[in-house]
Amino acid sequence: MVHCPGKTGVGTGKGPFLLLLGVVGTLIALLALLVWWVPSFGLANIHPELPRWFGLGVLVVAAVLLGGLGLLALTLLTGRDLFFFPRLRGLAFRYLLPAMIGIGRLLGADQEALQRAFIALNNQLVRARKLRVPADKAMILLPHCLQWFDCAIKVTGDIEKCARCGRCDLSQLADLARQRGITTAVATGGTLARKLLVEKRPRLVLAVACERDLAAGIRDAWPLPVIGVFNTRPEGPCFNTRIDLTLVEQALDEFILPVAPGNGGHNEVKKP
Ligand code: SF4
Repeated sequence: MVHCPGKTGVGTGKGPFLLLLGVVGTLIALLALLVWWVPSFGLANIHPELPRWFGLGVLVVAAVLLGGLGLLALTLLTGRDLFFFPRLRGLAFRYLLPAMIGIGRLLGADQEALQRAFIALNNQLVRARKLRVPADKAMILLPHCLQWFDCAIKVTGDIEKCARCGRCDLSQLADLARQRGITTAVATGGTLARKLLVEKRPRLVLAVACERDLAAGIRDAWPLPVIGVFNTRPEGPCFNTRIDLTLVEQALDEFILPVAPGNGGHNEVKKP
């Protein structure tokens, strides 16, 4: 499979993330050495075998953590899903990656770069699963900030409320959703997004948002596969944001099954 991170406008951000993986890996190894070495003298006074068993325990914990970091690094480098077991993938995604981002924050790393790397890694893992779902099993989730700030209509939930005046990208997105027959909803925040996902139960989500919201949303939605596409913020964060329609179309081409022959070339329009 050709790995193409550009299809969602999500750069890989591999450099800083791999560097962070290396730093954290080294820290874990040093910490394990320290944790084993310091109490060993005292433990030997209790029982001569205790330092060995304690050392073995520390070694196992360090090996599991370093193994997880190694798999993350290899996944980033190869573009393949090397987390062969869903549970292992879930543990790495729900705990190891957020921990990495937290450690990166403590070390002063660029948060946006780390979140980009997280989303790139997520997109790689979804791609590696070679998922293709029918249009009526997919969902596009959009942030409210894509709507033109002064629009008189409150487009939340159903994108069909948009009057297609063309002032913001919701107009073209609404047309695209209708054309492709994909449930498309505008969410004002994480709570509404979660509610929509529970109601619609899609098998795949294409989410448009900024780095921070996408990283949080992807974690919240786990294990539901979410492809992240970044919006752009020409007027600053959360205000009249934009989306490159071609990125959305490319992602849909990649993950949505083509319309079955015999229905006139159109999917049935599903209302959210
Ligand atoms: S395109 Fe739709 S959402 Fe955007 S300003 Fe016009 S009516 Fe409002």
